[in-house]
Amino acid sequence: MTATFETDVISTSAGDVAITFIGHGSLMMEFNNKIIHVDPFSELADYSQLPKADIILVTHEHGDHLDLGALENIRTEKTIVVLKELCTAKVKDGIVMHNGETREVGGLTLNAVPAYNIVNKRPSGEPFHPKGNGNGYIITFGDTRIYIAGDTENTPEMKDLQNISVAFLPMNLPYTMTPEMVADAVRSFRPRILYPYHFGKTDTSAIVDLLKDDDVEVRIRKMA
Ligand code: ZN
Ligand code: ZN
Repeated sequence: MTATFETDVISTSAGDVAITFIGHGSLMMEFNNKIIHVDPFSELADYSQLPKADIILVTHEHGDHLDLGALENIRTEKTIVVLKELCTAKVKDGIVMHNGETREVGGLTLNAVPAYNIVNKRPSGEPFHPKGNGNGYIITFGDTRIYIAGDTENTPEMKDLQNISVAFLPMNLPYTMTPEMVADAVRSFRPRILYPYHFGKTDTSAIVDLLKDDDVEVRIRKMA
C-alpha cells in the first residue's frame, strides 16, 4: 500500500501536489484527484496495490524505467502513457513526446527536456544515454513547475531551464551525474527544492555538503 512509502506535499496556486517516493527513478504524484506515475518499476512496489494512473510518464526505454508489468498493473483504458520513440517498440499506444516539445496532456502542460550523457560512456565509447533517446519531463501545476530529469547529465538544455520550483536529479554512477555535476546544474537553473533521486550507491551527503551555502533546499528521500 502507498502508506509504506513516504510522501511530501508541495503547495501550488492550483492545489496541493502529493509526491510519493517509490524509489529509484519511480515517483507517484496526486493532484486534484489525478494520479501521475513516473517510470513505474515493479521491483520497487507491488503496483497492483497502487492507485491506477491517469497519466504515466516514461523517460526512456531502459528496463528499470519502462517496465511492462508495472504498466499493466496501473493502466486502465483511460490512462495516457507519454514516452519516447524507442519505447514504442514495447508500448504501441502511447503519446510520443520529442525532446524540446511542449504539450497538454490530461489537462496538464508537459515539457520534454532532452536527457543524455556527455561525459559518461560505455567502454565502446557509446554514451550510456545517447542524445535523443530519453526525456526528462517538466509538469506545470499552477505556478509550480516540477522537473523530473530522467537519466541524464548536467546538459546545456538542463542548465538553461527557467522557473523550476522542484527538481529531481539523478546521481546513479557511472550512468548519470556525480554530485559535482548535480551541484553545477542546480547553480545554473536554481530550483527552490532539489530531490536527488535514482542515486544508487552514491553518497547523498556529498550533494548536501556541496550545496550547503546555496539557496536551495536539498531533500533526501529513499530514492536509491
Ligand atoms: Zn537509463
Ligand atoms: Zn536509470
